[in-house]
Amino acid sequence: MGRRSRKLKVDFADLAPSGTAAGGFARIIDRRSFLAALLALAANPALGQVPASGTGTVDVAVVGAGAAGIAAARRLAAAGKRVALLEATDRVGGRCVTDTALFGVPFDRGAHWIHVSATDPMTDLAALGGLEIYRAPPGEKLRIGRRYADRAELNELSAARLRADRAMNAAGHGQADMACSEAFPNDLGALGLTVEFLLGAYSCAKDLSEVSAFDFANSKERERDFFCRQGFGTILEKVALGLPVRLSTPVSEIDYSGRSAVSLQTASGTLRAQAVIVTVSLGVLAAEIIKFRPLLPLRHFEAVRKLTLGSYDHIALELPGNPLGLGSDDVVYEKAATNRTAALLANVSGTSLCMIDIGGGFGRTLAAQGEAAMIDFGIGWLAGLFGNSVKAAVKRRHATRWDKEPWVRGAYSCASPGNQPARGVLSESLNGRVWFAGEAVNETLWGSVAGAWVSGTRAADAVLKRLSA
Ligand SMILES: Cc1cc2nc3c(=O)[nH]c(=O)nc-3n(C[C@H](O)[C@H](O)[C@H](O)COP(=O)(O)OP(=O)(O)OC[C@H]3O[C@@H](n4cnc5c(N)ncnc54)[C@H](O)[C@@H]3O)c2cc1C
Repeated sequence: MGRRSRKLKVDFADLAPSGTAAGGFARIIDRRSFLAALLALAANPALGQVPASGTGTVDVAVVGAGAAGIAAARRLAAAGKRVALLEATDRVGGRCVTDTALFGVPFDRGAHWIHVSATDPMTDLAALGGLEIYRAPPGEKLRIGRRYADRAELNELSAARLRADRAMNAAGHGQADMACSEAFPNDLGALGLTVEFLLGAYSCAKDLSEVSAFDFANSKERERDFFCRQGFGTILEKVALGLPVRLSTPVSEIDYSGRSAVSLQTASGTLRAQAVIVTVSLGVLAAEIIKFRPLLPLRHFEAVRKLTLGSYDHIALELPGNPLGLGSDDVVYEKAATNRTAALLANVSGTSLCMIDIGGGFGRTLAAQGEAAMIDFGIGWLAGLFGNSVKAAVKRRHATRWDKEPWVRGAYSCASPGNQPARGVLSESLNGRVWFAGEAVNETLWGSVAGAWVSGTRAADAVLKRLSA
């Protein structure tokens, strides 16, 4: 996900039906709890005492050490529960991970933008373990062929985006769900494809024809964007310190048929727990990599199939010497003539790393063609906007392919038309023993790290309540 552009120019109160805050308070509280949780860690950076375990008996097993799993495990460990945090890969963070080896500077392979509410105390968060968190520079640039759009043209884009956003939002507050594309204004002329990209592939990881207007409208919130100079994934790594995480321990089966305990088959043996929180992505659930015994109830089974993951990837290019002449963290779009378009985040945190983001149907097709095809597209796209000399300036290069990551299998969830209620179904537990958490289980903050975090915390609270009962 890039800048949550559909929200930038939208005042929340502006969109709410008169006399309501359209759920805004709840969302701001959610946002606060995400940051409040991170802030609390500045004072309590490590838990440290709980032994990691992939076998034996614990109070609660948490499957997956992404944002949701880390949040859940922290909440449970803080409540004094014996927890096992089981992670299939050899690292924590899931879809929020920072790589420093590829480019020699922090490269967020997944989440990069820290979306927060306007009132969060970000300066305090900067105190967290020497991390530098700073406000994303305001403004965007629009390239029209080889030149930049002037102020009037930028205003035109802003107005077109706002109109489309409002139309889709209004449709999302209607009686029956529909595809966002059905509500999309058909008179945006030459800006139509750009706005479609910004609100669809770039924000929701899906084309607007595949985005439920209900889901789109539900996700609205007031936001500011921040970056972490050391990488968003580095924050998660820090907050996972001291947790009883068991890496390289994929869970293959969850048996919740017993009355008093759940049994998990892991790569290193059997683990028994009173309750389980499953935070793996929808892609992993849909591929039935984890077998449930008894089978998932039909409601859950269908919810997993209905709430699919969209496609979103970064094409990362090292461009030393700033050949594009852009500032640190400048965002550039193009006035698109086709759906083969992208967004550029230049000179990430003042480095030579530039990220070209693709998504939706075009992104999925391109990613399926492989990393070389993605890099070719990225360099060609830049050359089309900034001139052929850019080609020779590219040094190291890489493209993520989240659809192909075996333990994720997609980018992030976005409900297709008619399927938004599936999020609610996934928040129902199985026999009061198994809970689901993760970005997809959050009805308003889906597709974000904060959404995953909040959902993990909520699932942990539900488990604690159940165990105390
Ligand atoms: C390219 C991209 C860009 C994004 N940009 C942003 C952004 O800028 N800002 C933002 O807020 N969000 C962004 N997102 C979304 C954000 O990354 C996710 O919403 C969030 O990280 C999901 O966290 P999670 O805990 O729900 O799931 P995950 O991060 O997927 O965590 C699940 C974990 O479960 C593990 N697992 C899977 N199967 C098993 C198994 N069988 N046994 C044990 N472990 C298992 C996985 O390895 C993984 O670590 C982006 C996502 C992508 C892909």
